Amino acid sequence: MTERIFNFSAGPAVLPESALLQAQRDLFALPGVGMSVLEISHRSEAFEQIIKDAEADLRKLLSIPDNYKVLFLQGGASLQFTMVPMNLLPKGASADYITTGSWGQAAVKEAKKTGTVREAASTADTNFNRLPGPEEIKLDPNAAYVHYTSNETIFGVEFQEVPVASDAPLVCDMSSDFISRPVDVSKYALIYAGAQKNAGPAGATIVIVREDMLERTPDGLPSMLDYKNLAKNGSMYNTPPCFSIYLCGLVFKWALNEIGGLDKVFAMNKEKAGILYDAIDASDGYYRGHAEKDCRSLMNITFRLPNEDLEKKFIKEATAAGLDGLKGHRSVGGLRASIYNAFPQAGVVRLVEFMKDFQKDNG
Ligand SMILES: *Cc1c(COP(=O)(O)O)cnc(C)c1O
Repeated sequence: MTERIFNFSAGPAVLPESALLQAQRDLFALPGVGMSVLEISHRSEAFEQIIKDAEADLRKLLSIPDNYKVLFLQGGASLQFTMVPMNLLPKGASADYITTGSWGQAAVKEAKKTGTVREAASTADTNFNRLPGPEEIKLDPNAAYVHYTSNETIFGVEFQEVPVASDAPLVCDMSSDFISRPVDVSKYALIYAGAQKNAGPAGATIVIVREDMLERTPDGLPSMLDYKNLAKNGSMYNTPPCFSIYLCGLVFKWALNEIGGLDKVFAMNKEKAGILYDAIDASDGYYRGHAEKDCRSLMNITFRLPNEDLEKKFIKEATAAGLDGLKGHRSVGGLRASIYNAFPQAGVVRLVEFMKDFQKDNG
């Protein structure tokens, strides 16, 4: 078998090895079915079971209450930027958005094409290196909903708690920290996440929506953009992203059965990120984290070196040493280590060793 390297990609990203190995077996023939998982009808009994199991395991992982629907859709989190206001923002009403990075900005930009949007808070003035405190968030008491991004993938800032206490329905883009920690789903009206950061391969987008929110869907929406229609049809109004759903299901099983649930996943993530942040903090300022300490993400660790030439050299040498995908997004510069659920601790330890050696040779 070809050897695997350490993959720090921000997404699509590393997947659990056991899930990949099982997919490799099922790619030729599903046991008892005699066809590849890629070849079966979405209306077949085998696929019905796959999507049912995936939903059941996700419900167990996140303790999703019974009055929520779980949808497996397409179009990425980016389509949710549009579907959320199309379905939940009635004409004449306004929605509050808390902007803490590029994804939040993109959500605002798209929502404005559909309805009236207020920015209740933004940390753009400090290049999104921090999160707004409760006193900075100016909520509209009549907002149709409040939207925020729990983890900003590009800047590496992550809310540790729900940022607002509001009576308005809470909507969250959890794309890059989905199933990375326990979450009280009952606090949310709607949660969405593209699969390709923590949950599986690109293709599926997971939406968890409280049933009463479906009543807001206005009549006459295009069927494929209508939550009520998609929920009524159990995510099978049309052909769903079958393979992505199948692999998400394997990842949910891995998190439940191999890791032991989200408390364990969270503990693992805290430990991994802690090793890396400790190394940054112990480098006498050679490595500088982008995010303020109390806003740091456990998923995407963003940091700089003393200058851009050193950053280029670091990335080149790290890649050659089997540490791939460390180049930061151009809007932040520097480096970004994405260490999602399935990223092994051994890879973090290797990166820290590499950082120490690099500083010694180039300090
Ligand atoms: C990656 C990402 C997106 C965009 O996801 P797509 O599936 O590519 O549309 C949106 N929000 C966050 C927080 C992300 O990390």
